[in-house]
Amino acid sequence: AAKQLGRNRFAYFSPAMQARAQERRRTSEELRQAIARGELHVHYQPIVEMETGKIVKAEALVRWRHPERGWISPVEFIPLAEETRLIFEIGEWVFRTVVTDSARWILEQGREIQVGVNVSPLQISKGGASFARCMDFLETHALPRHSIIVEITEGSLLQHDRTVEDRLRELGERGLALALDDFGTGYSSLSYLQQYRFEFLKIDRAFVGNMKTGSRQLALCKTIIAMAHTLDMRVISEGIGDADAAELLRHAGCDFGQGFFFHQPMPAEAFEALLRARAAPPALR
Ligand code: C2E
Ligand code: MG
Ligand code: MG
Ligand code: MG
Repeated sequence: AAKQLGRNRFAYFSPAMQARAQERRRTSEELRQAIARGELHVHYQPIVEMETGKIVKAEALVRWRHPERGWISPVEFIPLAEETRLIFEIGEWVFRTVVTDSARWILEQGREIQVGVNVSPLQISKGGASFARCMDFLETHALPRHSIIVEITEGSLLQHDRTVEDRLRELGERGLALALDDFGTGYSSLSYLQQYRFEFLKIDRAFVGNMKTGSRQLALCKTIIAMAHTLDMRVISEGIGDADAAELLRHAGCDFGQGFFFHQPMPAEAFEALLRARAAPPALR
């Protein structure tokens, strides 16, 4: 039956659908070349310690600077990269970039900044060779393993297979830190927290935005923070947008925060300049 259908299949696609499919093919071909052409960039968003305001961590966020279309958000091209399996190559490139940058910050500034790297579910469940190459790359760099925080979403934990378990255990054994990203959205299940050892829990910005005294968002954040601390995890709130949210979260005992209220994601050079400025004695600031 499939064979019969196959012959006339194209009749079911409207011209608009065909145009869209063609556009996707073109974009994935461009994405395939983007790495070699140096069009991908890693930006860093500072993460502050809530109690002191000091920059102690950062999150690495990939961007694509398309020659004609300008900056393209990962929200647009990561799903395409996953579909086309380009995610392995991109993920490896991001990982190497982060390791190289972090090692330089230690060498040049004596600053150990823990950097969060986003990793797609596919990178955990498949792509063993690319995973192994990332680990090898890390071995060749003088970087405390702990400097890298692997950020995974609950999507990575959905399939209960051995590969996922083995990979996460290996990351832990090698000394990398693990964070559960976007906590509270998606397929939140507390069983993941029982099963795996996360050092950090990142509260999704859906709970952090519009946070006011007495709001349900705040109540949820307080509950998540208390739970995380009981389980010996530290909490990073993402998407902190204003002073109120920052103050409420600090008061609720949130350990770390990131968001446009503090800093936008920025190129490595800008982040380095920021670190240098913050490290200067007060008189020079
Ligand atoms: P995420 O890991 O949850 O990253 C946080 C996102 O929130 C980033 O969006 C960041 O720019 C944004 N953000 C931070 N503070 C604020 C704020 O105050 N307000 C608002 N409105 N947004 C804020 P971005 O850079 O567009 O990345 C989106 C998602 O793309 C990430 O969500 C992550 O899931 C994925 N992603 C980014 N880089 C990579 C990567 O290298 N590999 C993979 N696999 N995924 C990536
Ligand atoms: Mg993240
Ligand atoms: Mg997140
Ligand atoms: Mg998020």
